[in-house]
Amino acid sequence: MSINAMMLKEIKDAAIQIQEGELVGFPTETVYGLGADATSDGAVTKIFTTKGRPRFNPLIIHVTSIEEARQYGVFSKVALDIAHHFWPGPLTLILPRTTECPISWLATAGLSTIALRVPDHPIANELIKRANRPIAAPSANRSGKISPTRAEDVINEFRNKVETVLDGGNCQVGLESTVLDISGSKTVLLRPGYITQCDIENKIGPINKTIDNAKIIAPGMLESHYAPDCKVRLNVISSENGELFLGFGENSKNTTLNLSVTGNLNEAASNLFQMLRELDGRGASAIAIAPIPEHGLGIAINDRLKRAAAPR
Ligand code: AMP
Ligand code: MG
Repeated sequence: MSINAMMLKEIKDAAIQIQEGELVGFPTETVYGLGADATSDGAVTKIFTTKGRPRFNPLIIHVTSIEEARQYGVFSKVALDIAHHFWPGPLTLILPRTTECPISWLATAGLSTIALRVPDHPIANELIKRANRPIAAPSANRSGKISPTRAEDVINEFRNKVETVLDGGNCQVGLESTVLDISGSKTVLLRPGYITQCDIENKIGPINKTIDNAKIIAPGMLESHYAPDCKVRLNVISSENGELFLGFGENSKNTTLNLSVTGNLNEAASNLFQMLRELDGRGASAIAIAPIPEHGLGIAINDRLKRAAAPR
C-alpha cells in the first residue's frame, strides 16, 4: 500500500493532533490502534479514560526504528537479534526501561519494563515519523471488547470521542501482536500472535511459554477480553436454537459465516474480529464457533476465542 497525497495530508494533520495531546485512530498490520503521544501523561490518560482501560494494564509504545527503540528499552544481544529479524512486524518486545526513558510512567503502568514495537504499516510508520515522538497505542476498542480491523469499527466504537481516524482499509493480520518478554533471565511468550513460538525459537532457541504466570507478568492478559455482547460457545460442530454459527473449513455445515472455507488460518485470523462484530450486531442469543486447529496461527486465534468465551 502506498500513501497518496490526500492521505499524506491527513497523516500530517493527525500528527499535529498527536503533538497537541489528542487521540488518533490509525491502522497497523495487526489491528487499528488508538494512539497518543507516549511522552505526555495527559495524552496517555485520555487513552485509558476513552477506552475504559484499567490503569494497571500497560500500553505498547510504537516507534519507527530499532535505533529509536534503544532510547527507551535496554536491548540485550538476543533482543537486538530478534528486533533485527522481526521488525518492522507484529512482534512486541518487553524490555527493561532505560534510565533516561522519556515515556510517561502511566503508559508503562509504573513498571520497570516497557513494551516496544515497530509496526509494519505505511500509515502507522508515517504518522509516528511526522508526530516525531513515540506513540502509545492499544487497540482502538472499548476495553474488553472486540478489536477493530476496519476504520469504520473505530468510528462506531468511539463516536464523538475520537475526532481523527486514519483509514487504511482492512488490517492484514487481524490479530494483535505477539508479546515476548525478554526483560529478564528467561524469555517468555506472553501473548501468541501472527509470529509464532516456532518462528521465534527458530531464531533464538527454546523459550518459555508460561501463560499461567502471564497474569502476573502482563497485567493486561485478562481472562475475559475480545468479548462480544452476546455469549460465545466454542468447539461446536453444529449450532443450537437461536445461535449464529461461525464456521471454519469446508466441513462446517449450515454456517452463518465461515472464517475460511478452505481452512486457511491466515484468512481466518484476518476475518475473526470483523465476523465476530458482524454476528454480535445481529442480536442473537449466542455465537457458536467451530473448532480451530491448535497449531501455527491457530494457537493465537484460539487464545482470543477462549477470552471471548470466558465468564465475564
Ligand atoms: P494491548 O495494547 O491491549 O494489545 O495489550 C498490550 C499487552 O502488552 C497487554 O497485555 C499488556 O499487559 C502487555 N504489556 C505491555 N507492557 C508490558 C510490560 N511492561 N510488561 C508486561 N506486559 C506488558
Ligand atoms: Mg486490545
